[in-house]
Amino acid sequence: LRANFSVIQKETGFVNGLIAVLHDITEQEKIDAERREFVANVSHELRTPLTTMRSYLEALADGAWQDEEIAPNFLEVTRTETERMIRLVNDLLQLSKMDSTDYKLNREWVNFVNFYHRIIDRFEMSKEQNVTFNRRLPDHAIFVEIDEDKMTQVLYNIISNALKYSPEGGQVTFSIKEREDKIIVSIADQGMGIPKENIAKVFDRFYRVDKARTRKLGGTGLGLAIAKEMVNVHGGAIWATSEEGKGTVISFSLPYERSEEDEWS
Ligand code: ADP
Repeated sequence: LRANFSVIQKETGFVNGLIAVLHDITEQEKIDAERREFVANVSHELRTPLTTMRSYLEALADGAWQDEEIAPNFLEVTRTETERMIRLVNDLLQLSKMDSTDYKLNREWVNFVNFYHRIIDRFEMSKEQNVTFNRRLPDHAIFVEIDEDKMTQVLYNIISNALKYSPEGGQVTFSIKEREDKIIVSIADQGMGIPKENIAKVFDRFYRVDKARTRKLGGTGLGLAIAKEMVNVHGGAIWATSEEGKGTVISFSLPYERSEEDEWS
């Protein structure tokens, strides 16, 4: 709602009335504004690697290609930038698929405990940093109806951030909590954390706490936005808690009905 106020003043200067005109900003206007902002963001995100690549390619063409030390270095920069653009375009395609109205989930009943273990295993096998993994997962099965590919992506995006922002020798803790009608899945790290005033925004498209730093780490600013969309279509919610300098916990919920089978299998 937008309000315009006009003061009704008599010649004497006394104010004797106030007219308020209320404009309803329609849902459509809001969507249009968001779309414009999104396109501007995408253009900016693509232009940055492209202009970087152009200057490095120009330098190579101007003679740097003959320098045995500089040339491989410059080519490496253009390769990294190309990879960033590929990641960005893949993420954008992912989001645009989710925005379409005929978006469908391929839901199946999955034991979330085994599924979570498998994904953590994959990260544990391939991690290059000195980071310890702690698993606080129940021993019994927890069956939830999920789209495995989508949920893999959710966990992948959150866990890659946890590793990206973990300090040398840090710990990443994976947990599942069971509630009456849902489970809460959490990934906790001991990284630099997120300042309080930014915490709600990290799920927005293209939002980064520190643009320069996260660009260096290769982020697109879309990972958590994608995770949020995917958790929402599953009927869950996603949130972050964090203490600057101590670490971050990203949690999401999934609808769950406890059954006898879960307790015994
Ligand atoms: P990016 O690709 O930049 O990582 P994300 O959408 O995944 O984009 O995350 C958005 C921003 O939230 C990041 O740029 C970073 O500033 C912040 N962030 C996300 N996860 C963490 C974390 N575990 N620790 C600290 N900051 C984080």
